[in-house]
Amino acid sequence: MSPPPRVCLLTRHAKGPAVAPALAAVGFALETIDGFDTDTLGTFSGEVERQGSMRDAALAKARLACELGGCRYGLGSEGSFGGDPFLGMSGWGRELLVWWDAEAGYAVEGFAQGPETNWRALEVADVDAARRFADAVGFPGHGILVGRPGEAWFDKACDTLDTLVARVEQGLAAGAGPVALQTDMRAHRNPTRMRMISRAASALSSRLSTPCPACAAPGFGPVAPVPGAPCEACGAPTHVPRAERRACPRCGHEQLHALAHRAPPERCDQCNP
Ligand SMILES: [Zn+2]
Ligand SMILES: [Zn+2]
Repeated sequence: MSPPPRVCLLTRHAKGPAVAPALAAVGFALETIDGFDTDTLGTFSGEVERQGSMRDAALAKARLACELGGCRYGLGSEGSFGGDPFLGMSGWGRELLVWWDAEAGYAVEGFAQGPETNWRALEVADVDAARRFADAVGFPGHGILVGRPGEAWFDKACDTLDTLVARVEQGLAAGAGPVALQTDMRAHRNPTRMRMISRAASALSSRLSTPCPACAAPGFGPVAPVPGAPCEACGAPTHVPRAERRACPRCGHEQLHALAHRAPPERCDQCNP
């Protein structure tokens, strides 16, 4: 038996254990490359601006992993955080994992999102507010960035409440106003984010376990919902999906997969304008 194919991942943030089991389940041996500073491709703390979309960034990392690892398969991981898509009141995390086949020249994606994130930022004018923030975001199990890049009290590595408070005091003593605090979203300092990366890896693995019915390449799966499910009261087409478009990322083969359900009248523009 030949050894399982290698898949390379660039990470200085210890993402390996979060993705290795899901990749092993579809026959890949994960190899992490930690010699490359992925922070040069963009940081969450704003020192380096990320170029392009989340997908562009993850794909660029996956291709780079193939090059640097001398490997046919590469993985790139990228996260983004913001307000929830409903009211924007609470945090929302998104994690994308892109698998790249350098020989066949195509990518397969795994995506996870949800409210499970401690993403938060606050400007504090006293140490008590800093202590409350630390408590609320799960510090020191989860990291906090103190200050902004360029400020003398900027600290990406503080790991005790004493150090955190000392940095905040230093910032306040400088007389430049409140001190900025934000959760550290780097995976190794954020176990909540690490769990969402695992979910993206599971999504990728189920995608990779589905071969295209036309060309047999791994990665066949849903790409877009097709709206138009009939209203169960009046029969008019609604915005609720009636089908799901599934496609092969390698050869472009597509199938329309019907979803059996009808839409409730509350989702119908005729019955519930
Ligand atoms: Zn195909
Ligand atoms: Zn209706």
